[in-house]
Amino acid sequence: MAHDVLVAGGGSAGFAAALAAARGGLTVLLVEPHDRLGGTSTVAGVSAWESGCGGTGFPFELYQRLQRLPGAVGIYAVGRHCGWPDAGAYPGGENVLRPERRYVDTLVRYALGPLSYARPADRELIRQRFNGVVFEPDAMAATMAQMLAETGRVEVRLGTAVTRATVAAGRLTRVELTAGPAVTARWAVDATGDAVLCGACGCPRLSGEDPRARFGEAAAPEQPSGRVNGVTLIFRVAPTAVAGIEALPDGVPATCWWAAGFGVAHVVPFPNGDLSVNMLPALEGAEFLALGPTAAYAECQRRLRAFWHHWQRQFPEWQSYRIVAEAAALGVRETQRTVCAYMLRQTDLEGGLATQSHPDIIAIADHGFDVHGRHAGTSAGVHSPYGIPYRCLLPSGVCNLLVAGRAAGFSALAASSCRLARTMMQLGQAAGTACVLASRAGLELAAVPATELRAELRRQRVTLAWPMEPDIAAYIQDADSQASQGRHGC
Ligand SMILES: Cc1cc2nc3c(=O)[nH]c(=O)nc-3n(C[C@H](O)[C@H](O)[C@H](O)COP(=O)(O)OP(=O)(O)OC[C@H]3O[C@@H](n4cnc5c(N)ncnc54)[C@H](O)[C@@H]3O)c2cc1C
Repeated sequence: MAHDVLVAGGGSAGFAAALAAARGGLTVLLVEPHDRLGGTSTVAGVSAWESGCGGTGFPFELYQRLQRLPGAVGIYAVGRHCGWPDAGAYPGGENVLRPERRYVDTLVRYALGPLSYARPADRELIRQRFNGVVFEPDAMAATMAQMLAETGRVEVRLGTAVTRATVAAGRLTRVELTAGPAVTARWAVDATGDAVLCGACGCPRLSGEDPRARFGEAAAPEQPSGRVNGVTLIFRVAPTAVAGIEALPDGVPATCWWAAGFGVAHVVPFPNGDLSVNMLPALEGAEFLALGPTAAYAECQRRLRAFWHHWQRQFPEWQSYRIVAEAAALGVRETQRTVCAYMLRQTDLEGGLATQSHPDIIAIADHGFDVHGRHAGTSAGVHSPYGIPYRCLLPSGVCNLLVAGRAAGFSALAASSCRLARTMMQLGQAAGTACVLASRAGLELAAVPATELRAELRRQRVTLAWPMEPDIAAYIQDADSQASQGRHGC
């Protein structure tokens, strides 16, 4: 059966693209190689949405549904420290659950702006403002599946990947999968995170640091480099009654054998008291690309155990925790990016909405430049919310294809900021909505009027302004406080 839209990849962006297209009346085939939806947010264990503006629309809807499931979601904030060396705690960052805080608190502008991690006077404000959402990955994957099923228009094929594509006269006509017959669809959305479908279509892609001249980025290196953002294997620990240091598996040395050293840990609590540990990062991005996913995963497992052993020895508070799960896939921050009609760049991020004149902004974000690994930058440099234009979703050369997610039209610097999960979900929501508008008006994707796309997203309660539009803010506040009153009243 032919579908209206093929969505490749069932992560944050792919889920949202499929949902928006189906709610707009289109039939959708979503293919995902893993056994569940959610991608990096579930399979790779990155089960947290960092604070930032723009997390409206589908992310809030997911949050509301998760709230109805016991122990599925919570709000966290900075605990003892956020990389503060004098805090008397392990290096990295500690977060704690803050049940009194609300979803709207997580939409406060994250970027440091005038705040400084280094200035002790700013710490209380950072504790107030940096609120994020943590969720159980199983509940998130199941909720995503439920929302797609409710439309009655999405066929989800798990355990299936796109492999090859046929393009004729600038139009994608056929996509081959690892299982089942080849598919045709009027439109396709590449939400693979690695621009796999765009690559199969022959669309130009970029990888590694861009040279300064390419996008006029002062912070970029003079020459291109193959360096990409670092990779992390997230793991989960649970409190144990019997304190002690977990033994190293056979063949794993106690000393660090990789150049970056043991590094730091960023810790987020789950509602049930377990902790998600992000050893920032486990592998250089370039090492990941050289090893490939399978060997890289095995190497990260060894590093994780060595890191944990070291951590428990150095910081006795960790001896009362045990590893209970390692994520099923590596958390990959960056591989390929797609050359699109517009490439978001440093000047967009630094200038923000006040200086951007793009007529087609379909999502806003404000995370700082954020590179992990030996070429790490600071999580700063973004001082106000910035917009992401629809043209960042339009790959060159194929008129019925969009790219949503971390492989969209970003410079490497812009990608390091844009990539937060809720932002990726908003790109997916815009991509699916654009397919709906193209279908209704009989237009090519590139001809979808920006004003109509923005108006439709606003109707779906996606914020496109900062401060947030009052009606959207009021809706979120009301819905959230009703839900929390219901929760506490039971
Ligand atoms: C270690 C780490 C920590 C992070 N911390 C945070 C954080 O605290 N807060 C935050 O908001 N964000 C964080 N992020 C960023 C964020 O989680 C990701 O950028 C975001 O989830 C990516 O969403 P996506 O939809 O673009 O890609 P993904 O979620 O990766 O989805 C891509 C999907 O495509 C599938 N796919 C791949 N190949 C194919 C193929 N050939 N055919 C079909 N499907 C395919 C994959 O299996 C996957 O499910 C972090 C990322 C990492 C790696």
